Amino acid sequence: MRKDVRILLVGEPKVGKTSLIMSLVSEEFPQVVPYRAEEITIPADVTPERVPTHIVDYSEAEQTDEQLSSEISKANVICIVYAVNNKKSIEKVTSHWIPLINDNTDKDSRVPVILVGNKSDLVEHSSMETILPVMNQYTEIETCVECSAKNLKNISELFYYAQKAVLHPTGPLYCPEEKQMKLACIKALTRIFKVSDLDNDGILNDNELNFFQRTCFNAPLASQALEDVKNVVRKNVIDGVCDNGLTLKGFLFLHILFIQRGRHETTWTVLRRFGYDDDLELHQDYLFPLTLKVPPDCTTELNHNAYLFLQSVFDKHDKDRDCALSPEELKDLFDVFPYMPWGPDVNNTVCTNDQDWITYQGFLSQWTLTTYLDVQRCLEYLGYLGYSIISEQESQAAAITVTRDKKIDLQKKQTQRSVFRCNIFGDSGSGKSGFLQAFLGRNLTRQNIVSEEHMSYYAISTAYVYGQEKYLLLHEVFPDFDVLSDTDLACDIVCLVYDASNPHSFEYCARVFKQYFMDTKTPCMMIAAKSDLQETKQLYALTPLEFCRKHKMPPPQAFTCNTADAPCKDIYTKLTTMAMHPHVTQADLKSSTFWLRVSVGATVFAVLGFAMYRVLLKQR
Ligand code: GDP
Ligand code: MG
Repeated sequence: MRKDVRILLVGEPKVGKTSLIMSLVSEEFPQVVPYRAEEITIPADVTPERVPTHIVDYSEAEQTDEQLSSEISKANVICIVYAVNNKKSIEKVTSHWIPLINDNTDKDSRVPVILVGNKSDLVEHSSMETILPVMNQYTEIETCVECSAKNLKNISELFYYAQKAVLHPTGPLYCPEEKQMKLACIKALTRIFKVSDLDNDGILNDNELNFFQRTCFNAPLASQALEDVKNVVRKNVIDGVCDNGLTLKGFLFLHILFIQRGRHETTWTVLRRFGYDDDLELHQDYLFPLTLKVPPDCTTELNHNAYLFLQSVFDKHDKDRDCALSPEELKDLFDVFPYMPWGPDVNNTVCTNDQDWITYQGFLSQWTLTTYLDVQRCLEYLGYLGYSIISEQESQAAAITVTRDKKIDLQKKQTQRSVFRCNIFGDSGSGKSGFLQAFLGRNLTRQNIVSEEHMSYYAISTAYVYGQEKYLLLHEVFPDFDVLSDTDLACDIVCLVYDASNPHSFEYCARVFKQYFMDTKTPCMMIAAKSDLQETKQLYALTPLEFCRKHKMPPPQAFTCNTADAPCKDIYTKLTTMAMHPHVTQADLKSSTFWLRVSVGATVFAVLGFAMYRVLLKQR
């Protein structure tokens, strides 16, 4: 909402502009007034809308035309004052003042105008008959009011209307000519309805209405009031109420009613609470709260609360309860966004089901990825979903944990992070993408049906370390880089992938390692991909095994995704474990107890899977 309101009074001499201002301030009619009142500022706490308000007088006798023009362009709302007993002053409203105001204001951002008929104490009849046609003709006229500076009639009302016209303009909400709500307003209210419809059944039931009422107006609706509202809707619109709850149609009708009855501040309160600005766009402060600072060597993760919220968003849209989002369900979920945020590459970044629909786990993984790579975007997305409102948080930023500096993790030899980044290097054709896709449970046959343009350079899923769920984020680094960016270098673990069946493949890994990672503390792992094919001798001075020994790396890990079932996931658990324990020396890594602990963790998880059955069968 605006920081302050500037009200300008114009009109013919002697209609009572100065008297109106003086009457407001002193609460009595001044017998003698100057030509022009000094500009006064009413402090926020004594105005009805709690916004500092400046009131500016105009006097032809004291001011030039230039000064008048400048005041008009500075004003947020203009009161054109006429005297009800003075025909000429009424005529001048349309012949002089409205055109003058239009000449001095932007076509796009017209200031609201209020017509003020002063000296109502002097006449019996009302000037409304003359004024109403004028009101209908000029849409910039917000309202009209008759008052008397002498009797103090309608004086505070006049200034209240003026304030309201600025703070809660009808312009963006309603088209008076067509007697209809404007499209942008319908769109915004529809989004608000969808966010508030917590169970996504297309109806706001009493619970949801009460929550809505509480978030917007800080007070629940008395049950009788709730019934009254529903009855009004029932009487006026077919299908406005359904199963004793409000439908979208009914919800929109209520707001049209508010607006038509001059209670548009109600609609504005709702819109603003849900993050909209005066142009009915979501406010930048709402989408991008500034409170979040991410120092270097820190990462961004979603906290428990945010995952709970995202779970509820998923559940709300997984209507058939198959734990995956069909294209229709996904479209419905993103209906509250101004654009579709996820492209087809997301399906190749996270786990999907047999129909290639994003699973529950995949859904949370993608959010985790966005939070990690681009926290601003994540905040924006959470804003569209109404996170801060539904979760009753100060801002979207409450969803984010900024992890502590990695250097402290290293010192303390432990980490509180739950997302670890693994950068994958390897010559082209070495099997990097296969390694990424295998993490999503896809074997080679399954990978081959993915079109090249929908491929992703990221893959993210969970791995269990000591029974704890962690996210591992794999990133494939483009092999033909000139220089490595900081993010390519800064990761928790590096994978060097070579094609065990191609004699020229290993050299690349050795080169990247020596050039970039030999002298860093980042743990590295060598992957001998395509282990289903015939292994050949690598054309390099050392064999991969010798190379790993020399540089105190674990031995190369044989890997294949050319499997009948889903590829084996052990390697990813190993990588996550190494990423979590960068302080563990290579000597520790070689010791069997370390890996035993790791594999115990893996087994705990495997209890749930088929792997365990196989182990049991073998033992028999
Ligand atoms: P301005 O030139 O528009 O600022 O008008 P003034 O405030 O100077 O008022 C012009 C004259 O109208 C003064 O003599 C006021 O006392 C008188 N006047 C202003 N308001 C009223 C009103 O509400 N009723 C009556 N009867 N006289 C008024
Ligand atoms: Mg005056």
